[in-house]
Amino acid sequence: MVARLRADGIRNEAVLQAFARVPRHRFVDSALANQAYEDTSLPIGLGQTISKPSVVARMLALLFEGERAAASGRLGRVLEVGTGCGYQTALLGLLASQVVSIERLKPLHEKARDNLAGWRDGDLRLVWGDGRLGHAPRAPFDAIVAAAGGDDLPPAWTEQLAEGGRLVAPMHDAAAGGQVLLVIDKRADGLRRQRRDAVHFVPLKSGTA
Ligand code: SAH
Repeated sequence: MVARLRADGIRNEAVLQAFARVPRHRFVDSALANQAYEDTSLPIGLGQTISKPSVVARMLALLFEGERAAASGRLGRVLEVGTGCGYQTALLGLLASQVVSIERLKPLHEKARDNLAGWRDGDLRLVWGDGRLGHAPRAPFDAIVAAAGGDDLPPAWTEQLAEGGRLVAPMHDAAAGGQVLLVIDKRADGLRRQRRDAVHFVPLKSGTA
């Protein structure tokens, strides 16, 4: 998988090493374990999916290109929206000083907690809640990454982003006619937005269930 990510153009060694260390098969049902290292999204229950490794790697690499991360070589304090099975949370744990990960579906929040129970690498805090509201108690965040895509940018995300921080999230883009990765940098003089790769993520929903 790491060789394929490298061939796909992922150059960030820290990101590649994190992929080498986190066993993806532990995060999917045993019936799907034989597909765990293919570049494909897989079902994790409740209509949700574990994201495709190449897209996760791309998002993590984009986070590292934010101003703060580029200066320090680490991701600092990260807010992850959409814990799902906890796979990306484990990757972030190797790359960030602290990870706050929010999931709106209780059974998935609990599944991630089980999957990460024996995982000692990193400071991981799993929260059951609506990630559209961010997580004010631990804001500001040096980086924010979402694994579910909406039509609009929740205001809490840019409010809770530190100056010099970067947000990467899938977002519907009318001009592109589908979802794209939205990259937002928070600067002293305001927000700088870029639209990157076309992607296909599950919907960002409101409230908890
Ligand atoms: N990175 C995850 C991907 C899970 S799919 C993994 O590795 O498994 C995206 C997740 O976002 C789903 O579990 C979905 O329930 C969750 N989600 C959607 N809207 C949300 C919201 N408002 N707050 C928190 N989680 C949300």
